Amino acid sequence: MKLQIDAALCQGHGRCYDLAPELFGDDDEGFGQVLGDGTVPPDKEHEARLAVANCPERAVSLTAVSVPTAVSVPTAVSVPTAVSGQEES
Ligand code: SF4
Repeated sequence: MKLQIDAALCQGHGRCYDLAPELFGDDDEGFGQVLGDGTVPPDKEHEARLAVANCPERAVSLTAVSVPTAVSVPTAVSVPTAVSGQEES
């Protein structure tokens, strides 16, 4: 999960960083800022959702981050066995 704040909507109410100080900070004017790259550790998802639900400007969004699927590895290729020459008698 990843958090984002839409700076055009944020009015600096401060609920996000009050409710989830491990995920949000504030700038010099009190506007909310996502800490780091916004990635939410699994044990902080509740706080992230709380911040989303309590932002009065609906400026906080939480999106799922797609996890790359496993890369398929080609299976072994069969190698033709050597053909033994037939000897004519
Ligand atoms: S709660 Fe919303 S409006 Fe208030 S600082 Fe956080 S993002 Fe900005």
